[in-house]
Amino acid sequence: MSRDEMHQLQSNRLRRLVSLVYHNVPFYRAKMQQLDLLPDDIRSIDDIVKLPFTTKQDLRDNYPFGLRAAAPADVIRVHASTGTTGSPTIVPYTRRDLSVWSEVVSRSLTAYGVTRDDVFSVSYGYGLFTGGLGAHYGVENLGATVIPASTGNTEKHLRLIHDLKITGIACTPSYALYLAETMAKLGMTKDDIYLRVGAFGAEPWTENMRHEIEERLGLKAYNIYGLSEIMGPGVSYECEGQNGSHINEDHFYPEIINPDTLQPQPVGTQGELVFTTLTKEGMPLLRYRTKDLCALQPGSCPCGRTSVRMGRIMGRSDDMLIIRGINVFPSQVESVILTMPELEPQYMLVVDRQGNLDTLQVQVEVRRDYFSDDMGRMLQMKKQLGERLKNVISINADIRLMEPNSIQRSEGKSKHVIDKRKLE
Ligand code: ADP
Ligand code: ZN
Repeated sequence: MSRDEMHQLQSNRLRRLVSLVYHNVPFYRAKMQQLDLLPDDIRSIDDIVKLPFTTKQDLRDNYPFGLRAAAPADVIRVHASTGTTGSPTIVPYTRRDLSVWSEVVSRSLTAYGVTRDDVFSVSYGYGLFTGGLGAHYGVENLGATVIPASTGNTEKHLRLIHDLKITGIACTPSYALYLAETMAKLGMTKDDIYLRVGAFGAEPWTENMRHEIEERLGLKAYNIYGLSEIMGPGVSYECEGQNGSHINEDHFYPEIINPDTLQPQPVGTQGELVFTTLTKEGMPLLRYRTKDLCALQPGSCPCGRTSVRMGRIMGRSDDMLIIRGINVFPSQVESVILTMPELEPQYMLVVDRQGNLDTLQVQVEVRRDYFSDDMGRMLQMKKQLGERLKNVISINADIRLMEPNSIQRSEGKSKHVIDKRKLE
């Protein structure tokens, strides 16, 4: 679709959406009235900047169904966000919402090169979390064979991966690494399995982690991004270029704003990602603030798709640690760890306060081949990591080199921070 056609489509859809929420959602009608806005004031997608924002707090204040726009009988499924950062938010879907969702996941899979001939394991958790069922119906809709493995029982899962000649997998990047570790433990290598493509998301990951996963599982690793408030996985996806994720912008209109001033940012500038659900019926949202920090990428994509791309999520604005006044994202620490081949990408940041001073301890696992009794060697490794970290985050961290397999693994979203300061 040309950019002009997309602009027209988005404009038509936005007008319909604004009229829908104005008439069906008292919360939005009140917000628009406060801004002296009538539905007719929104004529094209460019007018979106006039509309009010929606925050996670708004969803909580209207718990459970205050923002629902559809009749209760038209809601055929409900999901809830995992509540990484607080109490869950409830998301109702109509039949049409579910069909759009399957479609956008199928588009993502198609971009990864998945076809009807693939056998695809969905290893996101099934349940209220959108990852499992969201990916599941996208795979089915495409016509590939879905294996609803969910999480847990990793050894049995690996056996299925081998015996059923599974070619594709969807899971969190941290679970992909855990699979690789379990494979090694069982004496399996990537040559024993048939995996060729992975759809990884639900948590931030880095380019180094991609290489690591691709190398250890013998597949191409693609990003898939989404959030339950907007839909679930499939809001955006990487193409074969593996350079930015194409946004399904005919359904989810993206903006980048400065989280402090709330002003729209030009393409290419980092800021908070904001989405408007152009076609959603169950719980349509205007300018939902995701808290995810990233940039939209300028320029067209060599793959030929004309949809706008977003860069990697650099963190969540509420995930950011402030240590001695310095902003630190766990992803920054992770990318430094991944530059050292001696270390596993398994780490935990422990933040504490001694007296008035914040402290940062970085616990990280050393790879089995490098873990030794040679104090000199270990000290050297510690020093090197400390210096590299200092260069990136400007903080002297207390480094703890840990034995292989000593840090708790996760099957879903991984946890990387223990902030003891909040417990006081
Ligand atoms: P929550 O974690 O807030 O309870 P969700 O389970 O819906 O809600 O998770 C959505 C969030 O997960 C996104 O806002 C984003 O922070 C993170 N996320 C999802 N996919 C990706 C991805 N591919 N890369 C980085 N972060 C992601
Ligand atoms: Zn592309």
